[in-house]
Amino acid sequence: MTFAPRIDVELNKIRHNTRILVQRLHPLGINVIGVTKAVCGHPEIAKAMLAGGARGLADARICNVERMRRAGITAPIVMIRPPMLSQVREVTDTCSASYNSEFETIAALGATAHEKRMDHCVILLIEMGDLRDGILPDDLDALVARIIDLPGIALKGIATNFACLGREEPDHLTMAAFSALADDVEGAYGPYMETVSGGSSVSLPWALRSFKRGRINELRLGEAILLGIHPTTGNPIPGLHTDAFSLTAEVIEAKDKASYCSRPRVSPKTMPLRLVPDHIESIRVNLAIGYQDTDIAGLRFPEGIVLAGATSDHTVVETNDCGLRPGNEVNTQPNYSALMRAMAARDVSKVMHSAYDASSRGPKRRIRPATSLIAIDGGFE
Ligand SMILES: *Cc1c(COP(=O)(O)O)cnc(C)c1O
Repeated sequence: MTFAPRIDVELNKIRHNTRILVQRLHPLGINVIGVTKAVCGHPEIAKAMLAGGARGLADARICNVERMRRAGITAPIVMIRPPMLSQVREVTDTCSASYNSEFETIAALGATAHEKRMDHCVILLIEMGDLRDGILPDDLDALVARIIDLPGIALKGIATNFACLGREEPDHLTMAAFSALADDVEGAYGPYMETVSGGSSVSLPWALRSFKRGRINELRLGEAILLGIHPTTGNPIPGLHTDAFSLTAEVIEAKDKASYCSRPRVSPKTMPLRLVPDHIESIRVNLAIGYQDTDIAGLRFPEGIVLAGATSDHTVVETNDCGLRPGNEVNTQPNYSALMRAMAARDVSKVMHSAYDASSRGPKRRIRPATSLIAIDGGFE
């Protein structure tokens, strides 16, 4: 009834993490938007975020938004990657708003919305130094002037990104400058900037520390909710679960190859991940999971098991514990990159648990009984 490779998801932990972050940010005047792109818009995970108090959802791909809509989710969903011109119809059909930085795209969204006798809500994405996507602050005024009277377009706010491409966390001055842009647009053109979205999980330390949050009234949180960590430092966020996800692979071979190859061959890529000195592991264990399923270098293995290397379909680990035999399972903890790829991988089953039962947590490599199993799906519908 359970299959490997699979990703087990404790929905309660995701709900809990969302709730704690909402409780911390709400008194500061900041709404939480749950970002679902790393889990491909998995509807159960999206619902757990909403149940935890997220004001709405956000995703980067229209297919993920459509998946959530098909599952009956009616909450606001914002498209946080500027839409492709070829998808403006789908965006106006399914998203409550979209982030934009190009006039052509906004004009096309407006034309499509106008045809349907509706307004599409636009949030202007502002470049504040990450150098991925966004309008330069100096060009904002000219763009607003061009879109403000477009039929089918309702300008609802501004948003910015930090540490997506670069690694810079936001500082007070940058945030203050961003917040002031909301006042500038209102002063010059009139519409109330309802949403002033100050970034992703990397903006959390700023939000919790700052005494002057200005107009910023929203953060879009993915990694902090899902993995309970600060993306830039990797440190756990106090009070949050860091193990809502585990990725499990099955052993297909376990052999002592020490006599054949005196020094285990380790690929340079995974060398920095080896936490245990070379000489103590002698058993090489093959797991039926590979780069096609996840970012192998982003997996944390149980104590005493170290990664030797991986190919598209195999992962070789080393251990001095000869207890592992074919059919046993090894549980790992995925980082954001490993999680994102595993959730998108066709051959990784996604198993949702609605309640977390600590007593069912056996030794790491045993098959964990699936408590309160509510859904299994093998990849995309
Ligand atoms: C991915 C993304 C987020 C969420 O980032 P996390 O680090 O997962 O919190 C927020 N906003 C935008 C525009 C994104 O692309």
